[in-house]
Amino acid sequence: MTALLEIRGLEVVFDGFRALDGVDLTVDQGELRFLIGPNGAGKTTLIDVITGLTRPAGGTVAFGGADLVGRKEHQIVRQGIGRTFQTSVVFEELTVVENLDLAASFRRPLRTLLRQRRGISDTVAEALETIGLTALAERPAGVLSHGQRQWLEIGMLIAQRPRLLLLDEPVAGMSRDERERTGELLTAIAEDHTVIVVEHDMEFLRRYASQVTVLHEGRVLVEGGVAEVRADPRVQEVYLGR
Ligand code: ADP
Repeated sequence: MTALLEIRGLEVVFDGFRALDGVDLTVDQGELRFLIGPNGAGKTTLIDVITGLTRPAGGTVAFGGADLVGRKEHQIVRQGIGRTFQTSVVFEELTVVENLDLAASFRRPLRTLLRQRRGISDTVAEALETIGLTALAERPAGVLSHGQRQWLEIGMLIAQRPRLLLLDEPVAGMSRDERERTGELLTAIAEDHTVIVVEHDMEFLRRYASQVTVLHEGRVLVEGGVAEVRADPRVQEVYLGR
């Protein structure tokens, strides 16, 4: 396998506090990687560095061989990295399909955009089907349930055809059924995307994760298969509190 994302010796310092203290992380093309760790471990900071929101004090972030450090957020989006935020980015007055179409247009050349004004593009149709919201395509996004809105946000990312998707706690606040559908959605997306998921829910992890990286105090504590990581005494001590 080829590494899509290769992070070496990443350091982030906030007012003298080392939020990331020498993080190495390699994610291969096509991988579904879960990133876990207790509050304050540095998970969001790591995602923020990858997406250009936070500038590191040291280290390198190579994506498809190109160095991302110092690039602006919009340049990184154009490189093919998409992320979800904990705050919603859905436009409530627009329909589900309009939200997807808008997201897709971020990376579409203007000429294609004009040609496709009358119908929905294949990209949008595919994203709609993947997230399972075809029946609600013409409804305003404002009427969606919490879970459906999360799926729409994931759909909006897919519509931008990213090479790497970063999902921040996708099942937070979801019902049991919604978690299950999200797990299936992630599995489907991972078939043809590289995905990093920040997630706290251990049961969700047990069911849907294979490769897991545990962060603790700004460092990688343990990395490996989900069963092995869950059984690791260091993980139990810092993460599960046992
Ligand atoms: P996690 O996402 O794993 O909960 P974060 O990446 O949000 O952890 O935070 C890592 C550490 O960095 C925490 O101790 C947090 O308080 C600190 N931190 C994060 N962002 C800032 C900031 N902008 N200024 C100062 N400290 C910060």
